Amino acid sequence: MRVSLDASKCQAYGNCMVTAPDVFDIGDDDAVVTVLVEHPPEQRRADVGEAVRSCPVEALTLHED
Ligand code: SF4
Repeated sequence: MRVSLDASKCQAYGNCMVTAPDVFDIGDDDAVVTVLVEHPPEQRRADVGEAVRSCPVEALTLHED
């Protein structure tokens, strides 16, 4: 499992960070989210999947590699 971010789409809404704060983070001055864990552990799949789906601008993609 791998998470990728299209930084050109991210509007720093923060939905992903609320759902999986151990995987996504936005600092006070950040214009885009930071993916803290590019390869989240399998046990985080439910929340990471929800975080990806929660992005209103589809900036996040979950890959199976
Ligand atoms: S939910 Fe989408 S737009 Fe919002 S911070 Fe996460 S990746 Fe960026």
